[in-house]
Amino acid sequence: VRARVMEVTESPDVSYEDIGGLEEQMQEVRETVEMPLESPEMFDDVGIEPPSGVLLYGPPGTGKTMLAKAVANQTDATFIKMAGSELVHKFIGEGAKLVRDLFKVAREHEPAVIFIDEIDAIAATRTESKTSGDAEVQRTMMQLLSEMDGFEERGEIRIIAATNRFDMLDRAILRPGRFDRLIEVPKPNHEGRELIFQIHTRGMNVSDDVDFAALAEEADEASGADIKAICTEAGMFAIRDDRTEIHMADFRDAWEKIQADAEDADEISK
Ligand code: ATP
Repeated sequence: VRARVMEVTESPDVSYEDIGGLEEQMQEVRETVEMPLESPEMFDDVGIEPPSGVLLYGPPGTGKTMLAKAVANQTDATFIKMAGSELVHKFIGEGAKLVRDLFKVAREHEPAVIFIDEIDAIAATRTESKTSGDAEVQRTMMQLLSEMDGFEERGEIRIIAATNRFDMLDRAILRPGRFDRLIEVPKPNHEGRELIFQIHTRGMNVSDDVDFAALAEEADEASGADIKAICTEAGMFAIRDDRTEIHMADFRDAWEKIQADAEDADEISK
């Protein structure tokens, strides 16, 4: 069971250089997660507690998982990921048990960064309907908070949570000593998009006519994940055309295709 719901990576292969834009967010993550892991004595000497948990919030595909992986990589910490949705279980007590397992695995792999994606799945404001399922989700959340409260024994373990639905969160988890550092991870601006295009084409055979500033302008709604998809798709267009070099037109066609595919997906899900 553990293997299915928990992703454990000894040394994730994402570094800060792989992340485009998000300079401020990187800085904050470094201060709140990296510093306490690398120099805990600094906090002892000053006499303050490092933040318990950090919450990253913002639209999908903007680099939240990357930030968590990069900090684990930088600190040589084990990266342990679990999705909040995996903690929502049918059997009573199973969610809470998984939370205990999560911290147990982290203690066995110290230093460790625990990343809980989709935290809203277990930390959404309680709905009107008080079903037994709700109570179970509530218990899972309580278990998470109690693991976080045992901070002293937690040693070299840091917790990062992420959500696309900040508006839905139960404010109780944002209290001091819990997820008390909030970092917004927005969609990239023009400069960020240009950087992300450069990052994702590093290993690609791109022709001289490719203008990343122009692409960043045209793909003004794109997230980081969208830009990655554009680059891969542009490569596919070149392959289909039996070329090894990727042209500006390939990137433009790729963006059009990705937008069209997204519209189709929206239609189907309606
Ligand atoms: P979700 O909320 O959907 O889980 P996320 O914010 O965690 O999304 P990531 O998983 O970090 O997003 O990003 C998905 C992929 O998109 C990354 O593996 C990367 O290739 C690309 N990407 C996203 N944001 C950036 C960025 N700022 N710089 C470079 N690549 C990015």
